[in-house]
Amino acid sequence: PVNEMSVSLLSCSSNEAFARAAVSAFIAQLDPTVDELCDIKTAVSEAVTNCIVHAYRDTIGVIYITCRLYEDGGIVVKIRDKGCGIEDIEQAMQPLFTTQEGERAGLGFAVMQSFMDKLRVTSKPGKGTTVTMKK
Ligand code: ATP
Ligand code: MG
Repeated sequence: PVNEMSVSLLSCSSNEAFARAAVSAFIAQLDPTVDELCDIKTAVSEAVTNCIVHAYRDTIGVIYITCRLYEDGGIVVKIRDKGCGIEDIEQAMQPLFTTQEGERAGLGFAVMQSFMDKLRVTSKPGKGTTVTMKK
């Protein structure tokens, strides 16, 4: 990468807006279009919200965010937690699948998928989850 930033924050819901703003401010140096910036902010928002409401559901933990900028203008954002992890990633990524029926729509991964060019999810139950998104 030609530039990189990392930030870690506690999984309080008030930090969701901060995470979005931090990534957005870092990416601003690339002079992105309003649309691009909007897409990335939305995707970051979904991934960070998942850390808050799923990974650290009944607790507060640390969310690690890394953003890398590449020579070709590519942007990679990684959002990692050390929370509960995901049992079945393929199932979790299905649109409308949620483990919080009635409270959540099950659309977060679908939104990340459609707003970014690439989405990769790795997870270990009991260890945590890493979401890597590319634009
Ligand atoms: P919505 O995003 O629409 O509010 P949702 O969060 O349930 O609903 P997704 O974001 O698509 O939907 O996530 C699907 C499911 O994957 C979640 O219900 C949850 O079980 C699991 N999941 C997602 N992210 C994490 C994470 N970081 N740690 C543990 N489980 C996760
Ligand atoms: Mg979600």
